[in-house]
Amino acid sequence: MKIANHRTKIVATIGPASSSSSQLKALIKAGVDLFRLNFSHGTHEEHKAVLQKILALNKELNTHIGILADLQGPKLRVGVVQDGGIPLEEGQVITFTNEEGIGNAQKVYMSYVDFAKDVKVGERVLCDDGKIVFEVIATDGVSTVQLKALYPGILYSNKGVNLPDTDVSLPCLTEKDLRDLDFILTLPVNWIALSFVRSADDIHALRSIIDSRGHRAKIISKVEKPQAVKNIKSIIKASNAIMIARGDLGVEVPIHLVPTIQKDIIRKCIQWARPVIVATQMMESMMTNPSPSRAEVTDVANAVLDGADAVMLSGETSVGKHPLETVRAMNRIMKEAEKHYSWRDKRPKINRKSSTFLSDIMCVTAAETAEKVRAVAICGLTVSGYTAFRVSSYRPDAQICIFSSSSELLGTLNLVWGVRCFLYDKFTTTDGTIEDTISILKENHVVQVGEIVVNTGSMPIEKRFRTNMMKISVVE
Ligand code: PEP
Repeated sequence: MKIANHRTKIVATIGPASSSSSQLKALIKAGVDLFRLNFSHGTHEEHKAVLQKILALNKELNTHIGILADLQGPKLRVGVVQDGGIPLEEGQVITFTNEEGIGNAQKVYMSYVDFAKDVKVGERVLCDDGKIVFEVIATDGVSTVQLKALYPGILYSNKGVNLPDTDVSLPCLTEKDLRDLDFILTLPVNWIALSFVRSADDIHALRSIIDSRGHRAKIISKVEKPQAVKNIKSIIKASNAIMIARGDLGVEVPIHLVPTIQKDIIRKCIQWARPVIVATQMMESMMTNPSPSRAEVTDVANAVLDGADAVMLSGETSVGKHPLETVRAMNRIMKEAEKHYSWRDKRPKINRKSSTFLSDIMCVTAAETAEKVRAVAICGLTVSGYTAFRVSSYRPDAQICIFSSSSELLGTLNLVWGVRCFLYDKFTTTDGTIEDTISILKENHVVQVGEIVVNTGSMPIEKRFRTNMMKISVVE
């Protein structure tokens, strides 16, 4: 079932505002391509129940909506404070401690045992998305750190803490993440997002756990630390996809740098054929309002025009008042922006030295040929998903129709720009496969008699090599 025909994909976070079967179904029909289970909130049982509803809906609607499990990572927080909030004067000094207890105007608990060891005098400590800014004035190197408030404000209970200047020694996978991961890997999730990635080693650590369990989930690295921006090339190469997590990123780096970092990461991801998601505050005002602000409409349209694979909704769909209207509005903005999308001069260059050079060339040639012959669709049969990632990175005008015998892989590929997924589990000759796939596209009204299709595939078919052949067909 083809529901919404935007090419840029929509990721929606599930929460109390969207977790019933009827709400999930309505969101799919409105255009959601991938659901995000946010492990910062909710219980394992709640996430599993949502996942089962999504799988059931995929069967009912004949869709391949993907599922992303997002690990919390080393998110730092202050503890509970007296009366829910501590008023701070400019210049007021307060102590952060690693001993648990109810905070007051003198002393507040912070969930980071080695904070006093890692932090240095003069570094900044930001709380509540940067609404409170402290400067470190002393540390005992063991358990307590003295901070001076740079502006007046109120420090509320359980608010997040960001340390943009500090070399945080915490591992990327916390004990909670490892417990969550142990559970996630019992489920058929398509993607796992790793928060606060700093280097490619963080991704290797997660991948070795996923591999050791024989799971096929692919990894999304969330870019939200200055170290990740610095190491972006190696992080992109080590990841299967990237999320530009602008919430924490906008606190960790000077906020005026976020737009250019976003554009740079999108460009690099397209070059490396890694899907890229733009996340956070895309339609924030729709948490309460039935229509978006001008700035939000422009933000979503710009992400599309930059070539992002997907845009993500967080609070808007998980706890907002208008989840469905938000997705519908996003869909309208995206479709309009896509009409003006031109990627012609910005397409990725193929690296001759790459071990995948020959199949890369074949994928690009298929996309170029589709343009020259005005094909309506590029068809690819895939075992690993590689063809889908590569053809999509070219951002062709033709529909990218990907066939696989694995519904799990199709859920994964549903995140990728422009990719339309079809289950195909026959094993026949190359000619037979081409005929079958075109028939499926005809049945689904993707192509009509007389239109042109470019097929990619691999010969000999039984060897399951990467894409190594291309054929131009006229639909009969
Ligand atoms: C973000 O910081 O933008 C983000 C997506 O992360 P999370 O919602 O997990 O804090």
